[in-house]
Amino acid sequence: MIYIHVPFCHRKCTYCAFYSKPVVSSSALKGATPGSGEELLSQYVDALIEEMRQRRQEQAHPIRTIYFGGGTPSILAISDLERIIKALHENFDLSQIEEVTLEANPEDLTEDYLHGLRGLGLINRLSIGIQSLDDDMLRFIGRRHTASQALAAVENAHTAGFSNLSVDFIYGLPVDSPFSIFNFQLVSHVSAYALTVEPGTALAVQEEQGGVALPGEDDVVRQYEMLCKMLGERGFEQYEVSNFCRPGMASRHNSRYWDRTPYLGLGPGAHSFDGCRRRCNKPDGTFEQEILSEADAFNELLMTALRTTRGLPLAQVPDKYKERLHRGIQPYVDCGWIVLRDNSFCPTREGLLHADGMAAALFVE
Ligand code: SF4
Repeated sequence: MIYIHVPFCHRKCTYCAFYSKPVVSSSALKGATPGSGEELLSQYVDALIEEMRQRRQEQAHPIRTIYFGGGTPSILAISDLERIIKALHENFDLSQIEEVTLEANPEDLTEDYLHGLRGLGLINRLSIGIQSLDDDMLRFIGRRHTASQALAAVENAHTAGFSNLSVDFIYGLPVDSPFSIFNFQLVSHVSAYALTVEPGTALAVQEEQGGVALPGEDDVVRQYEMLCKMLGERGFEQYEVSNFCRPGMASRHNSRYWDRTPYLGLGPGAHSFDGCRRRCNKPDGTFEQEILSEADAFNELLMTALRTTRGLPLAQVPDKYKERLHRGIQPYVDCGWIVLRDNSFCPTREGLLHADGMAAALFVE
């Protein structure tokens, strides 16, 4: 599997701590001058293609999933994506490809752009960052789109022939978003994330200066539970703390991250995993890597598996940690947060709310 990081955004959202640079989009740059956003994006594509050439040996197997994440991948012009896809075909075996996702912001999904995306022939899934359907809240978090633009983007994507659509929502905003007005019939997948105040973001500064009153933990949990209930009523299954799908429509790419499948991450800020090492591409073109100890690998497994409804398979627990795990997990079984099912420790619905805390308490050294 391949992850491609597109580290550019039209502008920075107030809550965002991802690595991305604000850049003027290519569509706004007809007659661009050297040093402009258009040139920057073109240089990025050149560097990405060169990285594919240099690192293609790291993915010897046929590629099953590709994910364009960011940043804002839909900031790329269709011609940029065309060059990237051509290079993917040249450097990797795509004969067994199953799922190719592109993250997109609603304001980029015009009919022309969607038509162009379909014409590329490889991208078969869009993940659209709606976040909220309340215009005040969208402004508050610095998004460029309105609620009606978001609704239109999903309609247009569906009309353009994208049948595998995912949407991202944020909960924990000061005002509940009226998600129930959304036409869930059009999408097969929903990701819902809690608004978190990350250090160094504009939102953190706003909060420090007392300019924003965010809901307390109880209200955030209430919003999350309402969203889970609403999605359940509309036929979505929860398969991870933040992810819901129609039966059989879980994200194949993300599910493989949680299975700890190796992947190649390309582009500045991208992470890669080869089964025992994690590598992080730095923005200056260098990279850092870390060899995982057995304890690191097990802690990662705990962290991801306890967030999924499939849970932690006992067969994947190294013998040396089994006794300690059984002892440590028993209180969570007793209080109904974990059940033993099909030889796996699976979080219950209530347990999912405590997944990160349980994993941290079970970490080994
Ligand atoms: S569009 Fe996404 S990646 Fe870009 S600043 Fe906003 S949240 Fe961050």
